[in-house]
Amino acid sequence: MRLAVAVLLAALPAITVAAEPAAAPGFARLQLGAYTVVALSDGTFTMPAAQLLIEDRPGIVKTLLGRAGYGNTVPGAVNAFLIDTGDKRVLIDAGGGALLGSGLGQVPAQLRAAGYAPEQIDEIWLTHLHPDHVGGLVHDGQAVYPKAIVRTEDRELAFWLDKTANQPKVDDSVKGAFDGAAASLAPYRASGRVQTFKPGATLLPGMRAVDLAGHTAGHTAYRVTSRGQTLLVWGDTVHVGAVQFADPKVTIHFDSTPAQAEAARARIFAEAAKNGEWIAAAHIAFPGLGHVRRDGDAYAWQPLAP
Ligand SMILES: [Zn+2]
Repeated sequence: MRLAVAVLLAALPAITVAAEPAAAPGFARLQLGAYTVVALSDGTFTMPAAQLLIEDRPGIVKTLLGRAGYGNTVPGAVNAFLIDTGDKRVLIDAGGGALLGSGLGQVPAQLRAAGYAPEQIDEIWLTHLHPDHVGGLVHDGQAVYPKAIVRTEDRELAFWLDKTANQPKVDDSVKGAFDGAAASLAPYRASGRVQTFKPGATLLPGMRAVDLAGHTAGHTAYRVTSRGQTLLVWGDTVHVGAVQFADPKVTIHFDSTPAQAEAARARIFAEAAKNGEWIAAAHIAFPGLGHVRRDGDAYAWQPLAP
């Protein structure tokens, strides 16, 4: 419908349309074997991609942005994902809450719109502790999810809870993440509801952690399999799809260890393209669900058909 309206407007530029555009849906379901996956939009922001990306070849970022029709900025998306196994409801990442301005923080509302109350969330698995993934754990200092256990990889928690030792090591763009992580986890830690796991751990039957350290100290994807179908929830493997599928060597200032992040991306792109598994991506346009396929020497993103 939106496409039809756009085509109509293009054909008849002199006509003024007074009708309000319909609000875009902020949740989307995918059936994965016996499990229901719900993509939840936390909102969008303008990402200064040309400024944040670190290119491996001079000019490649502007070339690839231009090829996709962008200038120096791209529309940035933040998505979280609910896995409903029937027995357990696992939320993967929590969105930005109030940490990153009013454009984000919509995960709890989208969860309700999809038919779930925050009280029904049993576990929250964090891909990492950057603000756009943890801020939504709290509202005014209170836990948004009163019954959930929060799980994160042990190196990740240790890194962000030691601000004194580690803040000097990170890029200016993420120095604020230490306070954000501590504040977002505080009510859960106070009630003994934060648990850590080792890289590669199995967290529930058919659901295991995949070590993608590099973007952060314990950056983790989660691979979920039900009845032979697999979904990889890959966190921040990609920040700017228009650039990083075509050139996976492009990194971003947010990466703690860019060379390690690049290696992790190369590894997981190759695996995902080979397996043909579903991908759930935090920063690809909502719903952030699709597949990675090989495209010559590089890769391409094939989004879930609308
Ligand atoms: Zn992120």
